[in-house]
Amino acid sequence: MTETFDAAAWVRGYAALIDRDADTLTELDAAIGDADHGGNMRRGTAAAVEALAETGPAETLKQTGMTLIRTIGGASGPLYGTFFLRFAAALGETVDAAAFAKAFRAGLDGVVARGKAEAGDKTMFDALAPAADAIDQSLSAGGGFAAALDAAVVAAEAGRDGTIPMQARKGRASYLGERSVGHQDPGATSAALLVRAARQALR
Ligand code: ADP
Ligand code: MG
Ligand code: MG
Repeated sequence: MTETFDAAAWVRGYAALIDRDADTLTELDAAIGDADHGGNMRRGTAAAVEALAETGPAETLKQTGMTLIRTIGGASGPLYGTFFLRFAAALGETVDAAAFAKAFRAGLDGVVARGKAEAGDKTMFDALAPAADAIDQSLSAGGGFAAALDAAVVAAEAGRDGTIPMQARKGRASYLGERSVGHQDPGATSAALLVRAARQALR
């Protein structure tokens, strides 16, 4: 098995999935927020693609983080930006499965440091954290990189779906109180796309 993780392909693939699903993300945000998540993410990820240069993975993902912070706006900008900055900072020059797992965990920790979300708060954390756990479990069980990312996609999408019955305790949706129940969280939805794009960037 000699799969290579392509950091620039992750960013490009994420932007493509966001572009494909931007209307859905905005509709989800219209229900429990301010109807800008699709636009925010489209603007940010398009700028990140624009900023891609021929650099190593750590530098590429650091630039992506800085670009996302500058361009997404909203709550999700600093959160996704911090995810990429911490991910990049934890990375060496090669992105093997163990390095990815460690960096993904560092990115998740950055999201928590920034936004203080916990499990069940109905945020992107509820998709990202199960993905991080699935990667660790899969690798501990002796699985390879692709199997770990396959497991991460399944876990992130289950986590995303799991936000539907939750009552939001962070971000704008929390202002709705009980009225946030019954809606899928937009940030958890874009976070599941981030994980899917990572799987697709492993070739
Ligand atoms: P805004 O709410 O400022 O308009 P977006 O619509 O772009 O920003 O992003 C909203 C998403 O951000 C939510 O669906 C949620 O997943 C995520 N989010 C908001 N606050 C937090 C937080 N404190 N921690 C983690 N994620 C959060
Ligand atoms: Mg919004
Ligand atoms: Mg907004």
